[in-house]
Amino acid sequence: MATLISLSSNDTEYVTVRSKFISGGLSGARIHSIIKITMPDDVTSKHENFKKSYSASGVLTLYHGTKHCCDITKLSDFTRLCQNITCGVCGIIRTGPRPNGFVWFGPSSDISHGYTGAIGIMAGSFRAIFVMDVVSATSSHGAYTVPHGEAALPRYLIIYSH
Ligand SMILES: [Zn+2]
Repeated sequence: MATLISLSSNDTEYVTVRSKFISGGLSGARIHSIIKITMPDDVTSKHENFKKSYSASGVLTLYHGTKHCCDITKLSDFTRLCQNITCGVCGIIRTGPRPNGFVWFGPSSDISHGYTGAIGIMAGSFRAIFVMDVVSATSSHGAYTVPHGEAALPRYLIIYSH
C-alpha cells in the first residue's frame, strides 16, 4: 500500500514543491497540505520497468489534476482513502493512474487546475493536484499525454484552494 506523509511547511521538499506550484500560474492558491506519496512496490516496479524501455527520453515532472468525492483535507494516511470508484484522488493513490489508457498532464499547475474539483455530495473549496514523474510523454496542445498509466509515478499530492 502507498505511504503518505504530510510534509511540514519548513521541509525543503515542501518549499520546493510549493514554490513551483505557486509560480505555475496559481499565485492566489492557498496550500492546505502537501503529501509525499510513496506508491506500493508493485506500482513503483511497473513504472521503473517502463522507464527502462524509454531511458533516452528522460523524466519530466508534471501535474495531474483530478476530481475527488471525499474529504481530501483528511487524506493524511492510507486508511483514509475512500472506496468510491469515481474518486480520482483515492484511485490514483491506490493504484497509480489508470494502467491502460491515455493520461493527461499539465506542465504547470494552472493547466491542471481546470481538471480538479469536488464531485457528488462532497462540496467544498478544496482541490487536489498530483505531481508525478513522467516518462515517454508526448507534447500536445500545451499539455502532455502518455499512452499508459505506468509511464507516470505519483510523487506528491497538493491540497489547495483557489
Ligand atoms: Zn476519495
